[in-house]
Amino acid sequence: MNYISTRGGVPPIAFDDVTLSGLAPDGGLYVPAAWPSMSGDALRGLAGCSYAELALEIIVRFSGATPERTALAGLVERAYARFDHPAIAPLTQLDERLWFMELFHGPTFAFKDFALQFLGALFEHLLDARQSRCTIVGATSGDTGSAAIEACRGLARVELFMLHPAGRVSEVQRRQMTTVDAPNIHNIALEGTFDDCQALVKAMFGDTAFRRRHALSAVNSINWARIVAQVVYYFRAALALGAPERGVAFAVPTGNFGNVFAGYAAARMGLPVTRLIVGSNRNDILTRFFRSGTMAVEEVVPTLSPSMDIQVSSNFERLLFELVDRDHATLAATMARFRADGHFSVAPDVWHRARELFEAHRFDDEETCAEIRATFEKTGQILDPHSAIGVAAARRHCATSATPVIALGTAHPAKFNDAIEHAIGRPAPLPPRLEHILELEERYDTLANDVEAVKRFIDSRTADRAAAANA
Ligand SMILES: *Cc1c(COP(=O)(O)O)cnc(C)c1O
Repeated sequence: MNYISTRGGVPPIAFDDVTLSGLAPDGGLYVPAAWPSMSGDALRGLAGCSYAELALEIIVRFSGATPERTALAGLVERAYARFDHPAIAPLTQLDERLWFMELFHGPTFAFKDFALQFLGALFEHLLDARQSRCTIVGATSGDTGSAAIEACRGLARVELFMLHPAGRVSEVQRRQMTTVDAPNIHNIALEGTFDDCQALVKAMFGDTAFRRRHALSAVNSINWARIVAQVVYYFRAALALGAPERGVAFAVPTGNFGNVFAGYAAARMGLPVTRLIVGSNRNDILTRFFRSGTMAVEEVVPTLSPSMDIQVSSNFERLLFELVDRDHATLAATMARFRADGHFSVAPDVWHRARELFEAHRFDDEETCAEIRATFEKTGQILDPHSAIGVAAARRHCATSATPVIALGTAHPAKFNDAIEHAIGRPAPLPPRLEHILELEERYDTLANDVEAVKRFIDSRTADRAAAANA
């Protein structure tokens, strides 16, 4: 299986190279040269298998020859072994035609564990085969940092440097990162904002000598292997509700468009997905696009669902590439216009094609709290603010359709207890593993918002680690 860049400026490469490189050198995103497919009989054959068995059957269709099948089986086994629910992604029923898929039973209680637990294992395997090492540098405003740290802790061939804005992440989120005791994990509290953290990471990738010296790599949400791991649970849920005989719709609380794009990939493979319902908070650039055909950036406003406080959804480029019939020139021109002007409009036929599969709904903080309250009163289920937006979007769809809808639950409510208390008057119970981190010792270094200082820190930490390895 080969991968091409959406912008068409580089030769096709294989899955293992795509995984280790992240962004394509022409600035585009990697997508499969052709979509793999799954026949009705193949789908029927997957009913009743374990989550790891299903993951193997899906992922192998994207990965091709490397890693080879038995190695891949070991990687998915390992990736989902640390989830604390036997179903891995359990389904509960909230209403007559409305289902809720809990994607927060992984080590850091957010759906990002589905992708990053697999990606960490995959990185180690690929680097082992090449007898090489890499340094991952990332910036986080919350969930991604802890998921990446949990996925990479203790890996022999990976050093991970994670930057978070000092004093600007919640205590639980900070402790989830800083209490991990592993010599290859380095937390940096940067004296600046999340945007400063991201700008520093970008600057380090832009320094060719530094990038080569450390074999820099990225685990951000445009990494294709993350999407592939997320395709699996769409199959899981649809099979449970009667696919391939019966179609299902999915409602997805959306930020960077990575999660819902995995649903699109599942549909392209032949899963009977009747609708993909995008839920936005007040940062509703995607909802406005699906309603008007125009994508236009506005200011980011903070909301109760911070992991969706995003204006530019980086994975949307992958969908746009499909909507313009994989025309590299049109795609590249559209992205250039977007970068220059902050907006673009698509042709009417492109917009209509988008609306054949997608619809979108937006909810402000008040509506989010109302959904948390209503669902709790009706079912006893406590939704986190992100998941509540998915459920609210699903309910809008249910009002006009008889197809079953599965809303994706992307975080455990105890990660956002301020909002939960505000909505229902009391916090969600803390899972024991989260309670535990309130007592553990924290490890992090506070650094000035200065790229040279951060580079010196990375140089000196990696030198110490190399010396320790050789001793
Ligand atoms: C990252 C995240 C999202 C958004 O997912 P995308 O793939 O970026 O669209 C939604 N909810 C939670 C809790 C998240 O951590």
